[in-house]
Amino acid sequence: MHKKTSIPSKGIPKEQLLSKMESLRSMDADWRSGKTWSLVYYAGEEHTGFLKKAHNMFFSENGLSPIAFPSLKTFENDVIAMTACMLGGDKNASGTMTSGGTESIMMTMKAYRQWARANRPSVKEPEILLPVTAHPAFEKAAHYFDLKTVHAPVGNDYKADVNAVRELITENTIVMVGSAPAYPHGVIDPIPELAAIAKERSLGFHVDSCLGGFMLPWLEKLGYPVTPFDFSVPGVTSISADIHKYGYAAKGASVVLYRSKELRRHQFFVYSDWPGGIYASPSMTGTRAGGSIAAAWAALNSIGEEGYMRLAESAMKTAKAIMEGISGIKELYILGKPDMSVFAFASDILDIFALGDAMDRRGWHLDRQQFPSSLHMMVTAAHEKVAGPFISDLNESVKEVLANPKSSSEGTAAMYGMAASLPDRNAVNGFVLDFMDDIFK
Ligand SMILES: *Cc1c(COP(=O)(O)O)cnc(C)c1O
Repeated sequence: MHKKTSIPSKGIPKEQLLSKMESLRSMDADWRSGKTWSLVYYAGEEHTGFLKKAHNMFFSENGLSPIAFPSLKTFENDVIAMTACMLGGDKNASGTMTSGGTESIMMTMKAYRQWARANRPSVKEPEILLPVTAHPAFEKAAHYFDLKTVHAPVGNDYKADVNAVRELITENTIVMVGSAPAYPHGVIDPIPELAAIAKERSLGFHVDSCLGGFMLPWLEKLGYPVTPFDFSVPGVTSISADIHKYGYAAKGASVVLYRSKELRRHQFFVYSDWPGGIYASPSMTGTRAGGSIAAAWAALNSIGEEGYMRLAESAMKTAKAIMEGISGIKELYILGKPDMSVFAFASDILDIFALGDAMDRRGWHLDRQQFPSSLHMMVTAAHEKVAGPFISDLNESVKEVLANPKSSSEGTAAMYGMAASLPDRNAVNGFVLDFMDDIFK
């Protein structure tokens, strides 16, 4: 079964390779026609073509050296300044670009750890205090940097339970976290209340706005109610915001911001004893793709505030239309009160995972969630035209699932159902590791 692939002894003709690549991608998720509801944030062909030009122009350059490539340094500083300005930062705000939300989050957690080592030496086992809905990137940071995560529950509205958070602070807590919004249900945590607690206890407070950073400021301007979440809120000390999500930039672009430069300094890494020279790196990766930095700058400048408002309004209207469509199906309901264009829906009557399978058969790809079992949707401007067809397929799929009581034990529904209901999470982790071993040959 195992087939060894080696580098071909002679190069294969480029035309042949390109056509092979085209044929392989024909099996991929069809994001361009709006059939997927995660992973790709698409603002149309014209914008994508422009992004590719900007990206290509800096295809070979390396953001590791701002001295060799002052162009990239200019782009990065502009991107950070524009993002800080959008998110209520003053002249002391500072930041770094990273390859994505995960790296931004990991860098802040590392900065808080270094800060605590320097300023609170009595803390031996530093803790991150976060709601259960916070992104796994915080778990990853804890895993990499030897931190402990302490989980606070969320209420019936899926927002962090403020009183529970207060109770969970210990002498080892170094940072508290809130999401604006959290990915699973698209709701914003009570950031002002949480940040006030952090301030009162002299703790760092990170707002994960990876998803909402480039959406909520426009929604607020458009008149939608938005819980304050940025540096205008006292006590917020850092924010992560992904440009490669609702900033509609090329993949590999996120911003991590600090209220002050003092904290950012703890993020940087310097090693001056290397025979290869003095080494300084702002973030996790060494080499940094110039294309992603350049394309992020190009996206922010070409779309502009007007363009972002238009994109945000379109995504929001489409999301509202879909949510209304879902609420109109009596077997289904939306979880909580979503604050933007990301949400989840569930059912008490039918097996929601079987519904996911029925939608798969109609070409739609919806992510499966657990605790509670639900289907997830991330709506962008690209989904405007598919809202209607989506709802009619959803209606049909509901009927199909209701007509087939066995559907929850078929397809992937059985697997997701089991994974969500097994009390032994280590066993689930084991299955997933086996799966990964199998996928990444
Ligand atoms: C996407 C996301 C992240 C992680 O970002 P990546 O770019 O996937 O690494 C973190 N937090 C939230 C809320 C997100 O939506």
